[in-house]
Amino acid sequence: GAPSGGEPWTLLDCTHGGCVKTGAKVIEKVEAHRAMSRVYEGCVYLFQDRQYLVEALDERTRTARCRTNSHRNETTHPKSHESVTELDADPRRGIAAPRRRRVGYANVRCSVGRARVVERVVGMVAKDQYTFEVRRERAYPSPGLLSADFVTDAVWWDLPDEIVRHKITDTGVLARATFGVVNLCVALVPATAMCDARDVQGAVRFLRSDSGDECAGARMYLYDTCPKGVGLAPKAYESLESLWERALKTVSECPCAAGCPSCTQAGGAAGGMAGSEKRASRIILEGLLGKWLKPDNDARADADAAVAGGTGARAEARKREALAATPEEATASERWADSQCKSIDAGVGGENDRERARGSSEHRPSKLSHA
Ligand SMILES: [Zn+2]
Repeated sequence: GAPSGGEPWTLLDCTHGGCVKTGAKVIEKVEAHRAMSRVYEGCVYLFQDRQYLVEALDERTRTARCRTNSHRNETTHPKSHESVTELDADPRRGIAAPRRRRVGYANVRCSVGRARVVERVVGMVAKDQYTFEVRRERAYPSPGLLSADFVTDAVWWDLPDEIVRHKITDTGVLARATFGVVNLCVALVPATAMCDARDVQGAVRFLRSDSGDECAGARMYLYDTCPKGVGLAPKAYESLESLWERALKTVSECPCAAGCPSCTQAGGAAGGMAGSEKRASRIILEGLLGKWLKPDNDARADADAAVAGGTGARAEARKREALAATPEEATASERWADSQCKSIDAGVGGENDRERARGSSEHRPSKLSHA
């Protein structure tokens, strides 16, 4: 992949010649950080009311060669792939150990700390500017173009066990629903953290069981998109329960059928895929908030258990287990999740598939109510 740091890239208009001597013109310099999400191959680049089509990248000279664009009424979006890895304490580099606390009635363990974020552009899609119909798509050779690699502030938490084991057993549904929850959180953070919609991003890391199940768990992340971080994730950490409550309210009140850009596809997800399991996203949020553990929901929970062929006693046992969890002591499943995240560290960038439109019109301000 192309390097993400260092010297800026040069955008070169080659419509009238292959190099500067024969008529090519320098359009502009593009800052190295996230340059690949602005000048990927096939991208329509807007500059001073003119459109250029990026045709080729030359890593050695850090040049993006382009021509006047002939594909009219088209917008392009990079497909990106983010991988987040939480960092252990490292006093020499000034990295403190993550802080943890239990959040909400279900005692979900939440952590805040430093994380390494690797963003790659793995492909692109061109859409009709007016109808959003897909006109062309491309996938770049693996592992894609390295767009950014930086350390920043992050907050993370795991899918509740109850969800994975009992509530949503289809792993595909679980994956899409988890993305939907992260999308909602990403879209809702700016209202309380007083930041721009692009300042916080989300990612999901799926955990595989020893037997090789598709998805035996998932860790959800929110992180500051600014390298080094400006404290937005730590701010979110202080009010995660209300963030989840607002996300649940948003998804519950949205009139759409399966998920839309105002709810589970908010926060910039690229297509119908990411947030198309609205009902399951809602179940995850109820799980994070411990809705079915609360006393006023006991009657319903017992009824559910009876319908599912379970017993009230089993639900009762799980409830006691959740409530007994302490911030200091990780439960068995939390320790397992931690070890999974460690073992995947070696292959940063390989486990966190996500397609997301970035720097595009789909990143318009969210329509979510910030009430
Ligand atoms: Zn919706």
